[in-house]
Amino acid sequence: MRRLAILIVLLMPLVVFAQAGPGGFISSEQDAQLKGPWSDGVEPFPIIANIYYVGGVNISSYLITTPQGHILMDTGMPRMAKTVLANVEKLGFKPNDIRLMISSHAHVDHIGGHAEVKKATGAQVIASAEDAKALEAGRDMSPVEYDGWPAVRVDRIIKDGETVTLGTVTLRAVLTPGHTPGATTWVTTVQDGGRSYNVVFPGGAAPNGGPLVVGNPKHPNLAEITLATYGKLKQLNPDIVLQGHPQQAFMGKVDAMKKGARPHPLLQEPGTWLKQQEQGEANFRKRIEADKAKMSGR
Ligand SMILES: [Zn+2]
Repeated sequence: MRRLAILIVLLMPLVVFAQAGPGGFISSEQDAQLKGPWSDGVEPFPIIANIYYVGGVNISSYLITTPQGHILMDTGMPRMAKTVLANVEKLGFKPNDIRLMISSHAHVDHIGGHAEVKKATGAQVIASAEDAKALEAGRDMSPVEYDGWPAVRVDRIIKDGETVTLGTVTLRAVLTPGHTPGATTWVTTVQDGGRSYNVVFPGGAAPNGGPLVVGNPKHPNLAEITLATYGKLKQLNPDIVLQGHPQQAFMGKVDAMKKGARPHPLLQEPGTWLKQQEQGEANFRKRIEADKAKMSGR
């Protein structure tokens, strides 16, 4: 009886504190998807106004064009750099006219192609201070500790609320740490068919599943900063949301976007975003409670 009790006590930490494997907390199934079908190329297409899709099956890259040069939002997995550059050309734009590169967050599936695209275009890389550290190290510094990527130099650090302007386009950075320490949600307004649309590119909110969000020695304030991020996100009021993994949101709507259908196929009902953020926050609060229970050994 006593030996059994000792065994249970010895095994408990293994059960409670799952350790990250070689791919961090990413499962082998997720890993295979990211490196396989999700990062395969798709035909590029116009989304709205001067915003185009130039990414893969379920990993995004968005091109925002201006007469003074273009902005590229995310570059996907390292293998997607060539796809993204080819897609820009297929749309009739010159990769060399990409002047600025911005990003949602420093995870390999969103900035993995940065180094190659920067080398090919000479574009300036803009990132938040925390994500810049990871971009320049080529290492995932977020709780999920997934694969690294070819390191890339960051040319400009963006602070919370600051804007990036190129020609007629201005994007505002809303720092939304949690998913990565420097995750950045980008917000812009576009004019299309006589009305303006508030467009949001989410940077990610809660950390990936797996790591502790309470009592995580590498990320001691993870719960607090993530909750503050939900507070910020709830204040945004997007008409159109352009996500990092857009396959579901785009499903059945790509042909309509290619044809320029209006009302816009991605136009959100007012309140949809708020409801999603509230749901995300509620789920995250449950995760906090679950981790607290683990920490106290219940
Ligand atoms: Zn991510």
